[in-house]
Amino acid sequence: MKILVINCGSSSLKFQLIDSETEAVLGKGLCERIGIDGRINFTPGDGDKITKDTSIPDHNKAIELVIEALTDANTGVIKSLEEIGAVGHRIVHGGEKFTKSVVIDEDVIKAIEEVSDLAPLHNPANLIGIRACQKAMPGVPMVAVFDTAFHQTMPEEAFLYGIPYTLYEKYKIRRYGFHGTSHSYVSKRAAEMLGKDYSELKTIVCHLGNGASVSAVKNGKCVDTSMGLTPLEGLIMGTRSGDIDPSVVEFIMKKEGIDVAEAENILNKKSGVYGLSGDVSSDFRDLEDGYNAGDKGCIRAINTFCYRVAKYIGSYAAAMDGVDCICFTAGVGENGPLVRNIICERLGFLGVEIDKDANEVHGKEKVVSTDASKVKVLVVPTNEELAIARDTNELCK
Ligand code: ADP
Repeated sequence: MKILVINCGSSSLKFQLIDSETEAVLGKGLCERIGIDGRINFTPGDGDKITKDTSIPDHNKAIELVIEALTDANTGVIKSLEEIGAVGHRIVHGGEKFTKSVVIDEDVIKAIEEVSDLAPLHNPANLIGIRACQKAMPGVPMVAVFDTAFHQTMPEEAFLYGIPYTLYEKYKIRRYGFHGTSHSYVSKRAAEMLGKDYSELKTIVCHLGNGASVSAVKNGKCVDTSMGLTPLEGLIMGTRSGDIDPSVVEFIMKKEGIDVAEAENILNKKSGVYGLSGDVSSDFRDLEDGYNAGDKGCIRAINTFCYRVAKYIGSYAAAMDGVDCICFTAGVGENGPLVRNIICERLGFLGVEIDKDANEVHGKEKVVSTDASKVKVLVVPTNEELAIARDTNELCK
């Protein structure tokens, strides 16, 4: 079956067409600047990227363009829409309602709407994507795959905040975690790479991209993760602060004479390694160049970022009463030997020993710890689209 995977943001829409039998990517692309001006790029399976500036006033038009690209007589990869057997949608927040992927019906749509106040920027955009696909492909089964679902196995002691319990009961204020599809895919793949039983491993997954999170996966179940009610908690990220004392918000508001929205904007868009570097960049390629050239801001940003990751790994080893393997994934995790090295050098107390030559790997699956290392360290490129296609296939075949 051919499965269309849709990842719909407020002004962008990423898509991939995946053959569920061979798991080959038949075509992929991105609609950008939806509602602004509009641009689409499309890469057929083995062809070159085609980019077109074109008006995309809304997500319905974006879906139309996706279908046009996929079925184009010259550069398309399918003859007609009828070849698409199912659509898998990435949904950011499933609240406590969704513990796994589900086939989309009106009740599911209503439930996604109900938890939208937990992800006001993301869930409404995801729903627009679902509606647009339903309109363009009536009768084609669709599946919702939630970023939060994998983390729903966290025990209460890991997901509760130390705030009045009534706030949890009334508003469901708790830790949810995100990047779940990635943490699930990578932890399973790590077990396969090591030839071990997934249900018997203690794994820590470090998803280090622009957004970054760590998870603890014990015996095949997530027991803790670093993001919380929103993706702002936890690690220091590209531009997000991660953990801070909540009082910092009021303090900056008073000192800078700004309102809550502006203070939140600082924590989401001006902080992280970008802010720490002295506004040099949020991109680790730039930061690494600066680090190697001796730039103080870049050194500060990378060291502080790595310290926080190492601290989380230490605490998750405590949460699981040990750790068998540590996985690095996403843009920085897959491509950043420097960052992996600095983090692992802090983990000698756990018996982690990195193999500096093996660690030079970029974007490929590899064990990067020495044979003597008590904890295996792995680079495992994530593949959220494939994980979404697998769930969709499972529920629709
Ligand atoms: P997201 O999906 O959250 O946008 P990604 O997983 O794509 O993030 O990661 C993006 C980040 O990965 C970039 O900001 C960049 O810092 C980092 N990155 C990509 N390639 C490299 C590389 N070769 N070396 C170091 N960092 C890299």
